[in-house]
Amino acid sequence: MLKPHGGTLVSRIVPEREKKIILEESHFYPSLEVDEEVLMDVENIATGVFSPLKGFMGSEDLLSVAHEMKLPDGAVWTIPVLLQMKEKPDIPTDGRVLLKDTKGMFRAVVDVKEVFRIDLRRIAGLVWGTESEAHPGVRHFYSKGEWAVGGDVWLLEEIEIPFREWILRPEDTRRIFEYRGWKRIVGFQTRNAPHRAHEYLQRLGLEMGDGLFINPILGWKKSDDFDSRIILRAYELLTNSYYPKGRVLLSGLATSMRYAGPREAVFHAIIRKNFGCTHFIVGRDHAGVGNFYDPYAAHRIFDNLPEDIGIEIVRVSAVFYCSICECMASDKSCGHSEENRIYVSMTGIRDMIRNGRVPPSNVIRPEVADLLIQSYGKTRVHVGE
Ligand SMILES: [Zn+2]
Repeated sequence: MLKPHGGTLVSRIVPEREKKIILEESHFYPSLEVDEEVLMDVENIATGVFSPLKGFMGSEDLLSVAHEMKLPDGAVWTIPVLLQMKEKPDIPTDGRVLLKDTKGMFRAVVDVKEVFRIDLRRIAGLVWGTESEAHPGVRHFYSKGEWAVGGDVWLLEEIEIPFREWILRPEDTRRIFEYRGWKRIVGFQTRNAPHRAHEYLQRLGLEMGDGLFINPILGWKKSDDFDSRIILRAYELLTNSYYPKGRVLLSGLATSMRYAGPREAVFHAIIRKNFGCTHFIVGRDHAGVGNFYDPYAAHRIFDNLPEDIGIEIVRVSAVFYCSICECMASDKSCGHSEENRIYVSMTGIRDMIRNGRVPPSNVIRPEVADLLIQSYGKTRVHVGE
């Protein structure tokens, strides 16, 4: 099986015996209240999803990642992983700090190395390619604050999230892949419920691999993407009703979307490498938003990384429904002209549902559409199918 990024799977979970001690002594330590998003990433670091990261980035890591797309030790890394604060935190700049959730429960330990100020606009320009607040990922990054705490983390206690049972750790997925005898494992990233173009890509993955790892993002997303639980239910429905048993593994990824286009495509590939995937599908405008990125920049970036990241990238161009072929296809498989092609987008599907219309079944499966319609609290209305 492909080794985790950086060679070893990071594991930083406080051992049970030590947990008791640190909780008893908690009043000796300074603490910081952090939101769910930070705690999700603590867990991603501690369970190896973000291997080789052992903690939140310091200023040197951040600049190296922003400018050179690698960590100071040389491993490719493209997205900042930061513990951002709105105010300068009143903590020593070295030593142990506890992280607590918004209810005051202690969740993690940080061995602080540095407290520093982030040049938010400069970092946004380098990572997102824009400083514009019209970009939802950039706006979200600015909103988290210009102060950062860098240092290695230890996970004390997992947070309670509504889709916990859907989350597997890299050690679990790697064991499952081994148990199932999968050698070629194709990773599929998504932030939305599956429509027919997604399904086309998943079937490509099923054709080329021993198994398909569907790994929807369950963290923060812009408000017009669908709710995480709906997405999981839609995928459960698709995999149970249509795909062969035992050839798909569905598991949620609890981290936020960054909408950083090409750089996030690399981040997503590294994460799936850590889960044990050998291949990763990158479609048109992967992790993009609006018109901020060239649709194929997310393909090209893999040719320009400081070094090969090891996982094989399956580059797929735009997928559409062709009314002459009468199926989903791409430029590589359909020779008909543009006017015969229907491009499927979640934005289009969502707009139809909002207006009380049912999207055509060649765009999204009716039972998946039903789920999405229910999530909007609308009754199903048939129109001109
Ligand atoms: Zn065609």
